[in-house]
Amino acid sequence: MMIVRSVAELRAKVAAWRRAEEIVGVVPTMGALHAGHLSLVEAAKGACDRVIVTIFVNPKQFNNPEDLAKYPRTEERDAELLDPHGVDVVFAPPASEVYPDGFATKVSVAGLGDPLCGAHRPGHFDGVATVVTKLFGMTNADRAFFGEKDWQQLQIVRRLVKDLNLPVEITGCPTLRDPDGVAMSSRNGRLSPEDRAKACVLPRAMQDAAAAIASGGTAAEALATARTAILEAGFAEVEYLELRAAEDLAPLERPDRPARIFAAAWLGGVRLIDNIAVPEMNPA
Ligand code: AMP
Repeated sequence: MMIVRSVAELRAKVAAWRRAEEIVGVVPTMGALHAGHLSLVEAAKGACDRVIVTIFVNPKQFNNPEDLAKYPRTEERDAELLDPHGVDVVFAPPASEVYPDGFATKVSVAGLGDPLCGAHRPGHFDGVATVVTKLFGMTNADRAFFGEKDWQQLQIVRRLVKDLNLPVEITGCPTLRDPDGVAMSSRNGRLSPEDRAKACVLPRAMQDAAAAIASGGTAAEALATARTAILEAGFAEVEYLELRAAEDLAPLERPDRPARIFAAAWLGGVRLIDNIAVPEMNPA
C-alpha cells in the first residue's frame, strides 16, 4: 500500500492501471477511520481491481473553525487499519495540493443542499461538493463508494455526478452501527463514557418514531415524542428531526413514497447525525 501526496503521482499510478484496463474505485474519507469506513473499502474491493482511499480533512466543508481544529487526525493508525484490506493507494494530500493559491471555483448543488445539515451548517455542502468533484478529477476513478450514514451528502453526490456528466458510478453503502445501535462516526470518540452510554437513545427514538409513522401515526406526533426522549436522555439540543423523502429530501407528513427520518443532535459538545428508513405505508 502506497501513501501518495501529490496529484501528479496519483495520476501516473491510475494511468498505468487504466492502460491495463483495470477498474479503479475510490473511497473518499476524512480519516480517523473506523469499521464503517472499512465496510466501504470492502465494497470497493469487491467491485474494483484497484482501490484508492483518500484521507483529507477538507477545510472548506467546516463552517466552524473549532470543529475543524478538533477533528481527529490519526493518519498512521488509519494506514495500519487499511493495510490488511488490500488498498492500493492512500491519497493523503496537503491542503496546498488540493487548494493551491488562486483557487476560485465552487460546486454548489441547489435544493438538495438546502435543508437539514445544509440549513445548520452554511457552506458545508458546497465544500463537500467541491472537494468530491475535485477528488473525482484527481483520481479518475470508475466507481466511488459513500456511506448512507451521510444520506444527504450521498444524494448531493449522485446529483452532481449526473448534472456534470462525470464518468463515475456512485455506490451507497449501509450504515454500520455499534451493538447499541449508535451509527459509527469519527466524532463518537470525542464523547465521554457517560455521554457515549446516552448516545443510543438517538437511534432508538428514531426507530420508535419510524415504527409509529409506519403504522399510521402522524410524523408530527411521532417526532415530537422522539424529540422529548432524546432531550430527556441528556442531549443538549435537537438541531433537526424530520421525515423526508429519501430521494429528493422533500418534507413529508406520511411515508407515501420511500422516506427516511433524519436527525442531528448535540451531546456533550459533539454533533451526532443519523438517518433511518421508514417502512412504506400502503396508500389507503
Ligand atoms: P467521513 O470520513 O466521516 O467523511 O466519512 C467518509 C465516508 O464514510 C462517507 O461516505 C461516510 O458516509 C462513510 N461513513 C461514515 N460513517 C459510516 C458508517 N457508520 N457506516 C457506513 N459508512 C460510513
